[in-house]
Amino acid sequence: MFLYNCVVNSMVRAIYPGSFDPVTYGHLDVIKRASKIVDELIVGVLNNKSKTPLFSVENRVKMLNDAVSDLPNVKVMSFEGLLVDFAKKVDAQLIVRGLRAVTDFEYELQMAQTNRVLAPDVDTVFLTTSLEYAYLSSTILKEVAHFGGDLSKFAPAEITDAVIEKIRLTADNK
Ligand code: ADP
Repeated sequence: MFLYNCVVNSMVRAIYPGSFDPVTYGHLDVIKRASKIVDELIVGVLNNKSKTPLFSVENRVKMLNDAVSDLPNVKVMSFEGLLVDFAKKVDAQLIVRGLRAVTDFEYELQMAQTNRVLAPDVDTVFLTTSLEYAYLSSTILKEVAHFGGDLSKFAPAEITDAVIEKIRLTADNK
């Protein structure tokens, strides 16, 4: 079906979904690489009301928009609910996910298979991480930030500055 879409519609629109709380160099690496293989990439920022992220969804979208401003075929949007419903809404044929290690694989496989049952027309592709970012996650970035460590290898300065400020404000309010 994916190939059919490529031939008939000739335009491939993909979604790269995630929490991006906040975006890291690992995410940006996947975004850059994916944007070269599809016509349009929508970065889908999940607004999951049952989780308490460090940054609001509006903030996460803004940080991503700033970080991808040099990539003309990349668009950032927030979404709620099922990913396959969002894919249908924006007419995307493909979901892109990043794989860091074997530990990511089991969950990612389960999600991809579930999405395939829910929406057989939408395929999932995986990009394996660049080795230099294999260890990196938003959670690790926030943990190191909490203890005042050097964040320069994890994300652009505007983002790490915002994390430091947010953690400081949260600590002040306690
Ligand atoms: P989620 O909460 O859905 O896991 P994340 O924002 O943590 O969302 O990650 C979004 C996607 O980016 C996932 O596919 C994840 O595996 C991938 N990813 C996260 N960090 C990296 C990295 N360092 N290298 C490659 N892919 C990554």
